[in-house]
Amino acid sequence: MGIRVAVVGSGPSGLYAAEALNDRGAAVDVYDKLPVPFGLVRYGVAPDHLSIRSVRNTLDRVWDREGVRFVGNVEVGSDVSIDELRAAYDAVVLTYGASSDRRLAVPGEDLPGSVAATDLVAWYTGHPDYRGPDFDDLLRRVRSVAVVGVGNVAVDVVRVLSKSPEELAHTDMPDHVLATLAAAPVEQVHLIGRRGPAQASFTTKELKELGELADADVVVTPADVELDSISEAAVAENKVAARNVKVLAEWAERAPRPDAAVQITVHFFARPTQIIGEDQVTGLELQRTTFDADGSLVDTGEHEHLDVDLIVRSVGYRGLALPGVPFDESRGVIPNLDGRVLGDDDAPIAGLYVAGWIKRGPSGIIGTNKKCAVQTVGSLMEDVESGSVGNGSGTDTDLVDELRARGIAVVGVPGWRAIDLVEQQRGAASGKERVTVHDRAELLRVATTTQ
Ligand SMILES: Cc1cc2nc3c(=O)[nH]c(=O)nc-3n(C[C@H](O)[C@H](O)[C@H](O)COP(=O)(O)OP(=O)(O)OC[C@H]3O[C@@H](n4cnc5c(N)ncnc54)[C@H](O)[C@@H]3O)c2cc1C
Repeated sequence: MGIRVAVVGSGPSGLYAAEALNDRGAAVDVYDKLPVPFGLVRYGVAPDHLSIRSVRNTLDRVWDREGVRFVGNVEVGSDVSIDELRAAYDAVVLTYGASSDRRLAVPGEDLPGSVAATDLVAWYTGHPDYRGPDFDDLLRRVRSVAVVGVGNVAVDVVRVLSKSPEELAHTDMPDHVLATLAAAPVEQVHLIGRRGPAQASFTTKELKELGELADADVVVTPADVELDSISEAAVAENKVAARNVKVLAEWAERAPRPDAAVQITVHFFARPTQIIGEDQVTGLELQRTTFDADGSLVDTGEHEHLDVDLIVRSVGYRGLALPGVPFDESRGVIPNLDGRVLGDDDAPIAGLYVAGWIKRGPSGIIGTNKKCAVQTVGSLMEDVESGSVGNGSGTDTDLVDELRARGIAVVGVPGWRAIDLVEQQRGAASGKERVTVHDRAELLRVATTTQ
């Protein structure tokens, strides 16, 4: 008989791990705290990027495999402990992602109107546990927005806030989100980076899209794209940086489109120092920066003020600790060696593994998680072969049955399929692929009526 493994998290890394484990004969239960699978493919990847979001159609096939089950609506750490999982299975693979945000650490950061990109993204993708700012109310008054950060998530946020209602209508965003975005009086969106264009981490395809929006103009200050020697060197050794700089330099020379509904202004070498406002954000103070001869970023002493009603900080996602599991607070990841979780003594903890963002931090594309999960499963299988895992450590009791007996409304594959169908039917009714159901109670109602 093959081993039994619990995977914690049904994002890409969890599902790639489940697939690789199942290929090697393991029975796999994939736990998720949400009643629906796919993690950030559903609740992160921009809703207007339909082809990337369609990765879920491929990931979805894992549920057709014999021996792979979805155990949705079960939060590990509260509904069930890690120790219970470790007792019930031969091995546990943690793939629960990085759901928190990094902070700017500037005065005024907690003012209403200063929000994390994690919150805005969770809201516009219809995350059922969304408890952040009331964007339906906030966005009614927002004319000018500053998005701090120059990665792909920042670019997603700028694009979603700058697109016309027609450009967003075909997405699977919940109806209330589409209505709020359509009515938001946004006119100015500032994209702000501490360093220069050569150091930005967005990819060229995502950047270029900003210049192709139906009713938005992009403004780049020519001086920002003149390269110093540090940036010249960065561009020489990084093709993506070179391509990004080329696109930005072209925009710096483009004739302005004063008739555009939204103006996107890109600011480089601008470090936020303070968020201004009494009881609501009204502005952002920036300090101009430059590179010194050693390549360190230093302040120039020059300041800039932006009048804004909303500040979205997009300076990275961050993993959180799970009770009973070692955690590297400084990096926000679970310490590991090739996916084997390391204890306090730096020795592997038998039967405990990690993959995905909570293993390596929030970086890479969806496919990066496949390689990462396959490495972890490789380590796990080596341990099975050496006899340290699968030697009778798992029990024969079905923990999922036990959880149901405790009154937890576990959502299995049939429940997920019912949700999937309802979302697609709602989409078809308005001529699109799907409409996301965002209310947890409704998700559970749909799922449990067909269990
Ligand atoms: C805004 C945004 C946009 C992105 N866009 C792209 C893109 O366009 N292209 C691309 O290639 N990549 C993109 N990515 C990156 C991609 O989404 C990640 O690489 C990938 O989702 C990470 O996979 P993961 O499985 O490690 O984590 P996640 O996808 O976060 O999955 C973790 C899962 O664990 C569950 N979970 C968390 N805690 C618990 C718990 N205690 N108990 C049970 N379950 C739990 C969560 O509900 C979630 O389903 C984007 C990321 C973000 C944030």
